[in-house]
Amino acid sequence: MTHPAHAADRVTDGSAGSRDPKTYDAIVIGAGFAGIRMLHELRTRGLTARVLERGYGPGGTWHWNRYPGAHSDTPSWVYCFLFDKDLLQDWDWNERFPGQRDMEAYFNHVVDRFDMRRDIQFDTRVTSAVFNESIDRWLVTTACGETFECTYLISATGVLHAVIEPSFPGVEEFEGESLVTGHWPDRPVDFVGKRVAVIGTGASAVQSIPIIAGDADRLIVFQRTANYVLPARNVALDDWQRNAIKRNYDHLKELISRHPFALAQELPNRLFSETPPELREGAFERAWELGDFQFIFFTYDDMLTNPEANAMGAEFVRKKIRAIVQDPATAEILTPRNHPIFSKRPPVGVNYYETYNRPNVDLVDVRANPIARITPRGIELADGTEHEVDMIVYALGFDAATGSMSRIDCRGRDGESLREKWLRAPDTFLGLTVEGFPNMFMLSGPGAQFSNFPPAIEGQAEWIGRAIDHTRAQGAETMEPTREAAERWAATITQIAEATLVPKGAEAGSWIYGQNIPGKPKATYFFLGGVPMYIEMINAEADAGYRGFRFASVEARTADPVAHTPRR
Ligand code: NAP
Repeated sequence: MTHPAHAADRVTDGSAGSRDPKTYDAIVIGAGFAGIRMLHELRTRGLTARVLERGYGPGGTWHWNRYPGAHSDTPSWVYCFLFDKDLLQDWDWNERFPGQRDMEAYFNHVVDRFDMRRDIQFDTRVTSAVFNESIDRWLVTTACGETFECTYLISATGVLHAVIEPSFPGVEEFEGESLVTGHWPDRPVDFVGKRVAVIGTGASAVQSIPIIAGDADRLIVFQRTANYVLPARNVALDDWQRNAIKRNYDHLKELISRHPFALAQELPNRLFSETPPELREGAFERAWELGDFQFIFFTYDDMLTNPEANAMGAEFVRKKIRAIVQDPATAEILTPRNHPIFSKRPPVGVNYYETYNRPNVDLVDVRANPIARITPRGIELADGTEHEVDMIVYALGFDAATGSMSRIDCRGRDGESLREKWLRAPDTFLGLTVEGFPNMFMLSGPGAQFSNFPPAIEGQAEWIGRAIDHTRAQGAETMEPTREAAERWAATITQIAEATLVPKGAEAGSWIYGQNIPGKPKATYFFLGGVPMYIEMINAEADAGYRGFRFASVEARTADPVAHTPRR
């Protein structure tokens, strides 16, 4: 049997090794939203850059997540690049929520439209990035031994990209087909006539379960924690809607720039605490019908801060589950109880709860009776029950925020390991830089905003471009944050998060708090103050002359070696 880690087609490094490092101003790791946007920014500012991408095409997470039903949960017209007016006019979205195929086509369109392919190297997995203090440059090495030297190392590796591989005892012994949602093969997968298991009920599983159920002879879903699954209400877009989107982009961009999650809409401007009790449920009903994250963004402004508002929203969803799911025992297992709604990122589904009314679908609660091992024929639980299946779909999630860069052997001053540093705490300044890692920048790094990511990435790419310009204009070789600035940032994002109900999700294993990975520090991995505040704060740092940073030049270092003594 093929281990699921190797099940995706073509995961090799295609380029032949070369001994001499190739030299660029910047190396960008990853060609998803962040890497593509960063390449555009670097080119605009006249820097030479190479983007190194593990996949054989652009798109990052949208290249790998080909599982059945894979769709964005964010409307297509805001889940895109906004930097180029003509690009906004020459692309047509097919659905309210774009599917994986559309996303992949979009990325290829953007890369070709801006003639980016010549600067992107696909099939190239970066294995290490080491800062050489004697020349103030980064040495980047790939899996096939190719080396690159650069002044600026830019991580665009994605927030949810480092897939959690199944580690159940016996995984290798399974005689059927094993698949992992996070690196699904680029070929048709046939469930017809098969007995299929899906392990996990997060966002990826919730999208794939109804599709698999439609084909499979039998589907068994293994759930550990019940989630609040919101209905997507996806629709195909018609020409009138597409034209309306294009005509209104100036207005849409203005709305996006003001919305905390970077969506093109106004906030409800309504507090639960100020709404008469008899009118409160109406907002939940309307938002449920509108679908998707309208359940938070179209209900009450205090949904994430007012426990009473949150509890009523959570109870509303529980009532919907009981109304939709016909078997009371199944409905009971599907009902979330131990965390506030939105303290974990809620999955969004199409006919998700309805799927459990199908005669070929069973739900197994593995909270009290966990999966003990994978057998050659299926899945065995702690009490010895064995569920025989022909295929297992693992939808176990990601090592979020810090995972992708931690899988690269990244070393800063004095050989300090980024992986080890982040095993202590996800230490960054502004979510963009790390103390001890000069000239290393991150897009959507730990400590950066939590939102609809693409619009926020645009602000980060501009910030990084401006910081590089500033460093060069000063005649400095390096830029890196101070320890004090990093500590201040950690305190700031923790304080912001603690004003919300989001930390409560940690007890329910939320990846937002690193709690889906055993041993990962429980910490604030995201800025939860909203994109406008985040962009304002990072730009204020730049406008004030980068006071949280230290700039060093070769001359200064030679003249005052003490000023450059390694700090630890
Ligand atoms: P996830 O939400 O973290 O879900 C992982 C699932 O695997 C959880 O149900 C988890 O249960 C379960 N699991 C993990 N280990 C297990 C074990 N040993 N035994 C039984 N169950 C186990 O991961 P995901 O579905 O890949 O989604 C992650 C994030 O990616 C989403 O929250 C979203 O932000 C993003 N995403 C977005 C989209 C979209 O926009 N459409 C689609 C997919 C993913 P516990 O809850 O008990 O840990």
